[in-house]
This record gives sequence, structure tokens and C-alpha cells, in this order.
Amino acid sequence: RANLSDDDALRVAKKMRQSGCYSVGFALESDNEINNAISKLKRKRQKQPSVEELLAGILESNTTALSRGITLIESHKISHQTKAKILIESCLEHRKPSIRIGITGVPGVGKSTYIEALGTHLTNLGFKVAVLAVDPTSSLSKGSILGDKTRMDTLVRNKNAFIRPSAAGKSLGGVARYTREAITLCEAAGYDVILIETVGVGQSETAVHSMVDFFLLLKLAGAGDELQGIKRGIIEIADAIIINKADGNNKNAAKLAMLEFKRALHLYPAKANDWVPKVIICSAIENKGIDKSWELIKDYVKHSKSKGDFIKKRQEQDIFWLIQFIENEIKDQFFNNELISKELNSQIKLINDNKRSAFAAAEYLLNLHKTGA
Ligand code: GDP
Repeated sequence: RANLSDDDALRVAKKMRQSGCYSVGFALESDNEINNAISKLKRKRQKQPSVEELLAGILESNTTALSRGITLIESHKISHQTKAKILIESCLEHRKPSIRIGITGVPGVGKSTYIEALGTHLTNLGFKVAVLAVDPTSSLSKGSILGDKTRMDTLVRNKNAFIRPSAAGKSLGGVARYTREAITLCEAAGYDVILIETVGVGQSETAVHSMVDFFLLLKLAGAGDELQGIKRGIIEIADAIIINKADGNNKNAAKLAMLEFKRALHLYPAKANDWVPKVIICSAIENKGIDKSWELIKDYVKHSKSKGDFIKKRQEQDIFWLIQFIENEIKDQFFNNELISKELNSQIKLINDNKRSAFAAAEYLLNLHKTGA
């Protein structure tokens, strides 16, 4: 890409768009090369593997097949969506037992460093690890920050690890759905631990919490006011808090923060399965406390299985997403309806002019949608 002039780059981008491709992984220098690249990409597209081939590859834990399967899930093309649906359903019965772990924290807290350390620790123990990400802002920032392979350069070269950046999507609902379906494919491919990274903003934490067995919050030691600026909701959904960067001059502050969080967590009501969230310190960069965090996760899984809660929670999550998906679809259908979007503004005006109540306007619009009149 660095060898192209702006005009050429634009031309390549246009041609690539026409041919339905999003990226090429090699440099292009001349027109000839561009044309060759495009024909190559076209041939590659024509050779799309069948669902059976993808399934066979995924069941053999082939990462190319797994990546292609996930790309199919994320595609907006109807024919791809049909294939993706069959693929997901075929994978469901082949899912291996796994532990799904959500990891959140503000940018810079050390999520990718921690995932790299934990992922490496787990592969050393003989596990296969998949890293997925949920970041609905990635389509706005043109390229995802989460699950970025360059930020996990050791893990990316590990043959027992699979890293997939966040899908681009306009809505959190869409991105969350792709990720849930990617989890199914990873489990069919035999990944034992699925790590799902998300940033500590917006609703994405809640969405990730609703698709994992264990939810981990990464924090930094501050200047004493540990609980300042932390969203109450996030503490309530965390199964553990890890104070990262407990190294060098920061170690004592991290220990103090740990005590303060422990004290604060006692004030929250117990979780439904009686689990008391744990707080530990770690240094992801020095690889300290990583083993402890894995022990903690294993304790949780043991606890939750002994309470009969592990499977129950997954089943509840399935139902949550079923309802969520229906709600989103119905909402989209309603608001994307031409007649409704036209009428909505006049109804809003009537409400603002005190001529109609919000309830009556809603009833009118719903009725309009139902009858199409
Ligand atoms: P993310 O944005 O949450 O994924 O954070 P990163 O993993 O990219 O880390 C942000 C910065 O903090 C990087 O410069 C890391 O090297 C550094 N960092 C991450 N973990 C640690 C740690 O345990 N100790 C120290 N001192 N620095 C760390």
C-alpha cells in the first residue's frame, strides 16, 4: 500500500469494492499487479468452500476454516447468511465443553497485555484459547482496536491460540450476535477457553456479561479514591476484579486498592449463586498473578457447577438473546417502515403542541404499522 499514489490507492479501493473484497494482504505496485491481484481475488471468491467443507475444517480445528466461517457469519449477503445459518446449526451439536470469560476495563488498563499473558499461560497448560472482541465502535474508528493481533504478538504466533478482532457493525446487537455465533464455531473447533474482550464504555459490557460464564473487570490503582469514577453497574456484574500494573512503585497502591475494593464489594448483595466476587492484584507485563487469576476462574467454575448454576446460566443467556434479537428485529422493522418514519414526526409535533399524549401517539403509530393503512 505504501508504494501506491493516492490516485492508485483510490482506484484499487474502488476495484476491490466492486469485486466485494475488503483487503489484500500484499503490496501492489503497478496497474498490472493490481489487475492480477483483482483476478486472483475473484478466483478466490469463486472458490468459496461449501458448508460441509467448512464444517469438516472447523471440526478438525483448522483456523482458516474457522476464520472463513466467522466471515460468513459477519457477511450481509443473503446467500452467505443462509450458509452461515446452516453452518452454525451444524456446529451446535459438536460444541465441546468450554469456559467463556469476559474481560473489560478502560483503554490502557492492560487488557491485551493480560489476555496475552493469560492466553500463553493457558496454552502452556495444554488448553486451546480463542480470543474474540466486542467493540461496536470499531466500524466508526475504521478498524478495530480490540482483539487487534498486533497487540498480542506472542499469542498470535501460538498455534493453540485463535485471535479474531471485533466484527464491524453499526449496532451493538449486531456485533453481539456475530460474537455469540463465533463462540459456537470456536467451541465446535475444540477451543477450551474463549476470552471475550470489551471496552469499559456504553452497553457493550452488559452485552458481553450476557454471553460469558465469568466476567472479569481490570482496574488500575488510583490515588486513593478507588471507587470514584467506577460505574456501580459494572461492579455488580463483575465476578472478579483484578488490579493490574501491580509492579514497581505502583505495587503498594495496588495492594491498597485491592483492600478497598474488597471492603466495598461486601456492601453489595450476594450474587444469585452465592459467589462472592474476588479481588486480586497482578502485573500482566511481568506475568505475575496470572496463574492466580486462572485458579480463581477455575474456583468459580467449580462453585457454579456445584450449585447447578453453570448450565442454567447459559440457558438463561440463550433465552435472553432470543428475546433481545426478536425485540431488535421488531424495532428495526417498525422504525424502518417508510410510513411510520413519515408519521412519526407529525406525531411528535402534536405531542410538543400539547395536542396529543405520547401514549395516544404510540397507539396510533402501532395501529398504523399493524394495518399498513
Ligand atoms: P488495553 O488498552 O487495555 O488493551 O491496554 P494494553 O494491554 O494495550 O496496555 C496499555 C499499556 O500499559 C501498554 O503500554 C502496556 O505495556 C502497559 N501495561 C499493561 N500491563 C501492564 C502491567 O502489568 N504493568 C505495567 N507497568 N504496564 C502494563
